[in-house]
Amino acid sequence: MTQRRIAILGSTGSIGTQALEVIRRNPDHFTAEILTAQNNYELLIQQALEFQPNAVVIGNTKAYKAVSDALSPKDIKVFAGEESLVQITDSTEVDIVLAAIVGFAGLASTMNALKGGKPVALANKETLVVAGNLITKLAREQGVNIYPVDSEHSAIFQCLAGEFQNPVEKIILTASGGPFRGKDRAFLESATPDSALQHPNWKMGQKITIDSASLMNKGLEVIEAHWLFNLKPEQIEVIVHPQSIIHSLVQFRDGCIKAQMGLPDMRLPIQYAFSYPERLQTDFPRFSFLDVPEFTFEQPHPDLVRNLELAYMALAKKGNTACILNAANEAAVEAFLTKKSSFLGMHDILVHCLGHVDFIKEPGIEDYIATDLETRRIAKEFIH
Ligand code: NAD
Ligand code: MG
Repeated sequence: MTQRRIAILGSTGSIGTQALEVIRRNPDHFTAEILTAQNNYELLIQQALEFQPNAVVIGNTKAYKAVSDALSPKDIKVFAGEESLVQITDSTEVDIVLAAIVGFAGLASTMNALKGGKPVALANKETLVVAGNLITKLAREQGVNIYPVDSEHSAIFQCLAGEFQNPVEKIILTASGGPFRGKDRAFLESATPDSALQHPNWKMGQKITIDSASLMNKGLEVIEAHWLFNLKPEQIEVIVHPQSIIHSLVQFRDGCIKAQMGLPDMRLPIQYAFSYPERLQTDFPRFSFLDVPEFTFEQPHPDLVRNLELAYMALAKKGNTACILNAANEAAVEAFLTKKSSFLGMHDILVHCLGHVDFIKEPGIEDYIATDLETRRIAKEFIH
């Protein structure tokens, strides 16, 4: 494998830091060429000093001077602000762009990378939820691949290797069930942010951890899978598998099922997206069946399945519906984390926004941006 130059958009986050660990462990295979972050300039500086990228971008312009001063002895370009966050992949040669920004905020930079003909390793599932039609069209037009980083979608992608001629009957996305699996309704009614942030199997950023607790994450992943693998909603199933060892499954037309398994460790899907189609040696811990002798499966939580159902509804309704759902969910998670919404109240915010933002049948990028803003405005009104 020739050395691949990587741009990490969102290098200070959970995915970003794990991607840098993959690069740190494979200096012959990967270099970090671009690092970007929104606020955490101290970590960005530390990362830049270690990895000596070509360029860094700090979104928050107030931190520009601190970053620029700290990196001035080095040959590293420093930029700041929203526009630079989006355009940085135009000016530096890279082979893969890791989209690891959280939420709608990652849409513009992902689209710009694809427009520039750069393959994207996609962690930022919200971009596909919001604008899956535009993203997949761009990738097709530019003839570039989108490599899934989300563990379930990486699992599907790995199961499909060598099967591209074989029709898929359905896929089964596994869900851990999150921290509130098995809890009763009374518990969910008074659930606090602290308890929701205690995920049993994965250590992730705050937003996705709350999404995992509410099952919204799996809803977003159903929409993500629809776009990545060109599947109808009825071909996408969800099953709770609390051990998180089977990362997802594909059933082919002969009825055979392939599963991808391993310990829950995001470094694996990140590394596979970087090295595809090759697999690189790792010394990560190995899974043993005797350590987890029982795999179990169950239906999603009866009080949370309604969030998953909203995602299927959004797929059926099409247009800007999933964009509304995503923006409402970002607003709801924020409201929950700041104690302006209860845990179950987040669902009411989603339903309210879906009922109050205008439907657009064939949205373009401007419509998505307007829908996102309008949904956040309506959510804010409803929350206060
Ligand atoms: P995080 O909150 O830990 O990190 C987010 C990163 O995005 C940070 O580097 C931050 O500086 C940057 N960022 C935040 N707001 C920004 C803005 N407005 N403009 C530019 N940059 C901004 O999030 P995470 O857990 O690493 O998740 C990143 C994405 O990956 C999400 O879409 C998430 O759903 C997806 N994902 C994460 C995991 C995981 O294990 N963490 C697993 C699967 C998918
Ligand atoms: Mg996932």
